[in-house]
Amino acid sequence: EERLIDGVSSNSDNWDAALRPKSLDEYVGQEKIRANLKVYIQAAKARNESLDHVLLYGPPGLGKTTLANIIANEMGVNIRATSGPVIERPGDLAAMLTNIEEGDVLFIDEIHRLSPQVEEILYPAMEDFQLDIVIGQGPAARSIKMDIPRFTLVGATTRAGLLTNPLRDRFGVIERLEFYSHQELAAIVSRSARLLQIHSGEDGAFEIARRSRGTPRIANRLLRRVRDFAEVEHSGLINKDVADASLKRLEVDHMGLDHLDRRLLLVIIDKYNGGPVGLNTLAASLSEERDTIEDVLEPYLLQEGMIARTPSGRTATPLAYAHLKRELPGSGKQ
Ligand code: ADP
Repeated sequence: EERLIDGVSSNSDNWDAALRPKSLDEYVGQEKIRANLKVYIQAAKARNESLDHVLLYGPPGLGKTTLANIIANEMGVNIRATSGPVIERPGDLAAMLTNIEEGDVLFIDEIHRLSPQVEEILYPAMEDFQLDIVIGQGPAARSIKMDIPRFTLVGATTRAGLLTNPLRDRFGVIERLEFYSHQELAAIVSRSARLLQIHSGEDGAFEIARRSRGTPRIANRLLRRVRDFAEVEHSGLINKDVADASLKRLEVDHMGLDHLDRRLLLVIIDKYNGGPVGLNTLAASLSEERDTIEDVLEPYLLQEGMIARTPSGRTATPLAYAHLKRELPGSGKQ
């Protein structure tokens, strides 16, 4: 079952390519990153150099891939996109690096999932623009060095801490993407509605924004679903009431939480008495991957103050109890 408000991309997001901003000026929010990148890009261009390697990290759907494409666009170079798990052998990476042109961007999504052997090849490539490759096997094996074009590596990951230190140290620019404000998401929804010729009022866009977990990918996905309801069951216009009714049908609550978020909170509250409960136990109780909980579910719940992290595990906060209409232990009410 596809999770509607999952920030992770899926095939049905292809239409979304049309919505991708192409320049830093079109990119909404992330003011600090945009301002910094503008300076770095302008400086590199003025010096006729390639841009320093850039590491972008943050929860899925916040715009890391979009930024990588924008960087290439603004630098006026080509982009090659791949991902950590796809590059199986050092030779795969070597082939890509020998095929790029001076200044090009190599985008590696999920860069924390590179194998150690591939990472080994990447270090001299990033640092000295050299490939150290071993040819042949056994006693006949020999190592050769070859120069490759100066390129810009843009790496993306959910958490910077997942990277090994030597890899992280080789990035000149490290930026963390933040969840978007309701206003910023409303601007993104309105922009998408305009591009897709969806009839949406400001109040409708804001209601979708408010319930998109701070994540542009979710906002765009909810817009598309709400449009279906608006066109089939209403006049076609997305206003606050139509957005609200549609999102209720989609079981996205007024804070943007879906059934999986609520299940996670309820497990902590009902099964573990509010916690603390360890990540592994939580994963087993929910039949979810540990990584899904840590990368997809938790960041937003933490930021909204619904859960807290303690050394002995996760706890549900009073806000979570209130949101799920559970009585706080020891509150003595009712
Ligand atoms: P990530 O790589 O972090 O998972 P993406 O770059 O794929 O996220 O972003 C998901 C979608 O959200 C994009 O296709 C784009 O349409 C939209 N999006 C992301 N960031 C922004 C932004 N700052 N402004 C407008 N749209 C955005």
